[in-house]
Parts: sequence; structure tokens; C-alpha cells
Amino acid sequence: MIACLAIVSACGSSNTDEPQVWQDQESMLCPANYFTGRGQVWLGQDPEALEERDLPCLQGDGSLRGYFIDSVSTSLGESAWAEDNRFLYGLDDARLNEVQSYYVITHMANWLTGYVLDLDDSERVQQLLRADRVVLKFDRAVIESKQLCYSLEQGMWDLSHSLLNVDVMAHEFGHHAVFALNRSIGNSLIHEALADYLAASFTGDPVIEPSQWPGFDRNLDNTRIAPDDLIYKGDYCRSLLERMEAEGIDQVFSSLSQTLAQCVAQNSPAPEPHGSSLILSAALWELRTQIGESSFQPILFQALHNHSVEDTGDLMEALIEADSSGQYTTQIIETFTFRGIAENLGLDFPVLPYAQCP
Ligand SMILES: [Zn+2]
Repeated sequence: MIACLAIVSACGSSNTDEPQVWQDQESMLCPANYFTGRGQVWLGQDPEALEERDLPCLQGDGSLRGYFIDSVSTSLGESAWAEDNRFLYGLDDARLNEVQSYYVITHMANWLTGYVLDLDDSERVQQLLRADRVVLKFDRAVIESKQLCYSLEQGMWDLSHSLLNVDVMAHEFGHHAVFALNRSIGNSLIHEALADYLAASFTGDPVIEPSQWPGFDRNLDNTRIAPDDLIYKGDYCRSLLERMEAEGIDQVFSSLSQTLAQCVAQNSPAPEPHGSSLILSAALWELRTQIGESSFQPILFQALHNHSVEDTGDLMEALIEADSSGQYTTQIIETFTFRGIAENLGLDFPVLPYAQCP
């Protein structure tokens, strides 16, 4: 694996040859008395490619309520409801987003639950992972997560698209999963990296596309290292604004471009977590590729659950400790060292607060 690390770009490029596998075919972990309905969803990046799929773990009362999601509500028109539990909406119907949301989050929660079954207090983590409420608001993407009062809001600033972005949905649910594992993890570099990593692992695609433009992509299959590729807030805003201008969309999405312009003018030297997190998320993606998801994911989950991880060096130590057999210790150390994150970075990334219940 040393040769692979030394030429990490060649090593990483092999990832893209792997088939993209959505983690939506596992056996379902909800109780047997839940229903399976049908819904029209899109799974890749092409909303035109709608297909009919099972909607598992439904209460079966005609609503999109189920074991993993207590309710889905929307700021766009009426809520999805189907007496026969068949939710077949077309592209021009906003209710498609609710079905999509139910499908993606139910399967992502189900898949993640498979990895928490071996934790000490698995029951409690499973309860936290189950979402109380999913609220589709479309004007912002934010996670608010707290034991027994949890809501997931979906959207992307004012880049409102009538169709929900699957990667944003999986990323926000990734934040929730991290809080479910360990509410004390607040470092936004760690949180953003894990949210992207879990979303990418779920969709099998290392490219997180938070909007409909390629310029905003975050690709976990990269060669970024610290400290060279750490990015600061003013520079990050400038790079996004320049991409919008290059695409000629700064006038179309004027509120976002104004916000970015203000950020550029402030030229804050504070570290920016989304851009900087690509160093850590790439290390995790690389370990997943090398070790295999079925071996690496339980180590990662144990590490996050059992340790108060405050910085990148802490995370490396926690992974080493969670790898009780010591089988992957060398790979973990080499990967973190190559990326320049084996020691704590000690940077003042914003802390994600564990949201307060109303
Ligand atoms: Zn995030």
C-alpha cells in the first residue's frame, strides 16, 4: 500500500472505475409489522431517470410516515398522501421530493443502523438515528439534531430547484448520523468531512454535488494535503463567486452572489470547513477503498462513538484504538500522515452546536 500512497492520484483514480453502488438493497431493519409501498424516485444525478421502487418501513396509513422517519413535511404545496401507499409522482409534481426524501433517508438510516448494532449502547444510538421529522424547506440546507427532537431541513441557499438534491440530503443526514454517534463532536472540519464521507459511501459516488453546477462539486477522490490545501473563508467565498461569474449565473442567483461578495469583502482569515474538509474526507475515502467498506466502517463508527474526537490527530488515534486487531494501523497512520493530518491541526474551525430543542 506504500506505493499506492506515494502515487495517490493514480491510486485514487482507480476508484472511479468501481461501479457506483447505492446502499439501498440491504435487508430492512424495521419491525415486521411495517408496510412496504411503492414510490417513484431517482437515484443517480439524473432526475429524468425516474424509476419505481419499494418504499419500505411505512406505517401504511397512506402517509409518508414510517419507522425511520416520523414525518416528512414540505414548504412546497400539499403533502404526499396515497390511500393505497403508492406514491407515484412525476417530475413536475413537488411531492416527488417528499417521496425521494423518504426513500433516501429511510435507506440511509437502515444502512447506518447495520453498523451501529455492535456498539455498546446500540439501542440508544438506533433511536437517535431514527429521524423524528424531515422538513423540506428548499431555501437552505441545515441539520438540526437533538435527541428526541430532530429535524432535517433540505435545500441549498436560494438555489431553489424544484427537485431535491440527493447529495445534499445524504450529506445533511450524515451530520445527523455523526450527532447520533457522538453529540460531543463539534469541530466543523471533522463534521463536514464525515457528512460528505457518509453521503459518498451511501451513493457509492465520491463526488458530492450540492447544486446543479459542476463548479460547486466536492470530490473525495483527490490529492489534497494539509497545510497547503486548507482554505480560508475569504478565499473560499472568492472561489465560489468566481465560479458563479464564470458560469454567468451570478446575476441569476443574485442573493447568493451578493452574500458571497460580502464575504469576499470581509476577507475573513478564519478557516473554512467545507473546502478544508476535503483533505480529511479524502483520507477516509482512501481508507475505505484500501480496507473495504465492510471492514473500515465498523472501525470508524466505534472510533466516533467511543472517543471525543476534537481534531484530525484525535480521529487518527481513535481509529487506531478502534482497530482492536491492529490489522489496519499502518494504513491508517500512513494515510493520515501523507495527508498532513496525523497531528491535530489546532485551527479554529467553527463549532457545530448541538441544536436546542424548541
Ligand atoms: Zn455540512
